[in-house]
Amino acid sequence: MAAGAVNTAINGGNFGMSIGLGALFGGIAGAIGPGVFEGFGGVAKDGVAWSNFLPAVKAGVVVGAALGGLSTAFNPKSNFFQNVAFGALGGGMGGATGFGIGKGLVEAQEWWNSLPGRNDNEQGYTSSRGKTVTVTRGGTPAERAQLEAELGRVFSTKRGQEMLSALAADNKPIEFQLNNRGILGNPRGTMIIDMDLNAHPEIETTQGWRPASTARILAHEIGHVAYGIGDTGVGRMANVIANENPVATELGEPARIRYSGR
Ligand SMILES: [Zn+2]
Repeated sequence: MAAGAVNTAINGGNFGMSIGLGALFGGIAGAIGPGVFEGFGGVAKDGVAWSNFLPAVKAGVVVGAALGGLSTAFNPKSNFFQNVAFGALGGGMGGATGFGIGKGLVEAQEWWNSLPGRNDNEQGYTSSRGKTVTVTRGGTPAERAQLEAELGRVFSTKRGQEMLSALAADNKPIEFQLNNRGILGNPRGTMIIDMDLNAHPEIETTQGWRPASTARILAHEIGHVAYGIGDTGVGRMANVIANENPVATELGEPARIRYSGR
């Protein structure tokens, strides 16, 4: 808005076009906000998902068109429809540009956090012989503490104790990489577990469909890493039966009866 007014003052041009420019800058600022917040505070959980691109553009178009239309009141000689059109154009461009910048900033920060030595939680989990079996990258201190607490629950179970022993026999610790983008899993053949503490995919259990708990997800992924077991066997249930269900049921959760989600 301010930039648009300045433009009008300088060149006496069409106020609607100026409002469009204003909406462009406004859109950039508005769309960057969620992306930056996700990167630095985990506030806007979906700040960089591509599914937010069109909503960001649409929001920019709506706000820009409204501002353009309003501008007619300040300059009655200008054309209302032209003002709306310029405002919508500027707002849409602002939303798209802002989304792109926000996404780039967040991904740059995630890359920075993933570098060795960044944000490591070297305490992690230790075996009885003092060997570190997990380190954590990314996330906030509160999120890393939450992960530690959930790992404590998993490793408190009988199967969890066995997993801990198996991990202590490995040379490298599990490397948890925290994200806010719903990414869960163990890239095959690595010690990495991608973890989003707020992601709870729906699974089918003996008590019907329910969201998977973080402890259950951890038991599943750690089972892959600790034993090199895949989602194989009848109904792809081998890892679920060997590792996930024993931990989940000891923690008072129903057993999972089907591998695939919905
Ligand atoms: Zn799996």
